[in-house]
Amino acid sequence: MKVQFFVGRLIVLAAISIGMFQCTPVNRKIVQKPIIWDSTRIQLSLQYLHERHGLEADSPFITPRMVVVHWTAIPTFEGSYQAFYPSILPGRPLLQSASALNVGIHFLVDQDGTIYQLLPEKYFARHVIGLNYCALGIENVGDNAGHPLTKAQLKANIRLIRYLIKKYPDIEYVIGHHEYRTFAGTPLYRETNPDYFTEKIDPGDPFMEAIYRHLPVNRVKRRYQGTP
Ligand SMILES: [Zn+2]
Repeated sequence: MKVQFFVGRLIVLAAISIGMFQCTPVNRKIVQKPIIWDSTRIQLSLQYLHERHGLEADSPFITPRMVVVHWTAIPTFEGSYQAFYPSILPGRPLLQSASALNVGIHFLVDQDGTIYQLLPEKYFARHVIGLNYCALGIENVGDNAGHPLTKAQLKANIRLIRYLIKKYPDIEYVIGHHEYRTFAGTPLYRETNPDYFTEKIDPGDPFMEAIYRHLPVNRVKRRYQGTP
């Protein structure tokens, strides 16, 4: 009896241990921290889809075909979060002239690698000219000066992107924000004003190359492939 009880306990302990050491799915590690999604944001998103992307949509949702990686150029998580929080864009005259919709993002990764989800994946977010209507966005707290992106952020981006490309088979591209203009002139790029551009350097080639080293070979691309 005693032996059976001991063996039984061993089996239970082993099962618990295996469960503990199995990789936790990334979606269980994502902290939900929503920004405002109100009637103003919805209305401005529909207006953006119409005026900037030239798309008539009756709902502000996207079918993700790419992931765009950024840094916030704001040194703290709270400061970065607050920048995305309101529906209406404060300041930034060049962006304001294109739309009053505030910048938004689906995921925000803190310097310690914690992933926060600010918007559901299929909601429209303004974070990359010409491609918002099909782009999921990941922002990273940091910059190219005193707060460089960390190894923990790199690992979190890799885990998150691997999870997203598995979940959405339509995602064909993973790019850095600094690469978005390579899509101008392709069918994927939709911006009604051909002169509306911003110069971007985030997050830079080394970060994107480090991500790509850990993505499944031939699953996604950094440059448009197809007939322009
Ligand atoms: Zn950016």
